[in-house]
Amino acid sequence: MPIYEYACDSCDHNFEVQQGMRDEPLHTCPRCNGTVRRVFGLSSVIFKGSGFYCNDSKRSDSPKEGACATCPANAGATS
Ligand SMILES: [Zn+2]
Repeated sequence: MPIYEYACDSCDHNFEVQQGMRDEPLHTCPRCNGTVRRVFGLSSVIFKGSGFYCNDSKRSDSPKEGACATCPANAGATS
């Protein structure tokens, strides 16, 4: 699952949350209950670079045609 980084506007609290693709993004800070915004940092860049799009995974090590093991959208739906 991808890890999202959030930053709080009120108290500058930075934290990371591991969420699935279908999970609701956080809106409130766990520390001060203020408004948080999602930070697209290093973790999301790595996430996109590792086969975020299923169509990009047509490699020899693809487990199944039309399905990609690294795609988090499929990870929760196929089990
Ligand atoms: Zn806060």
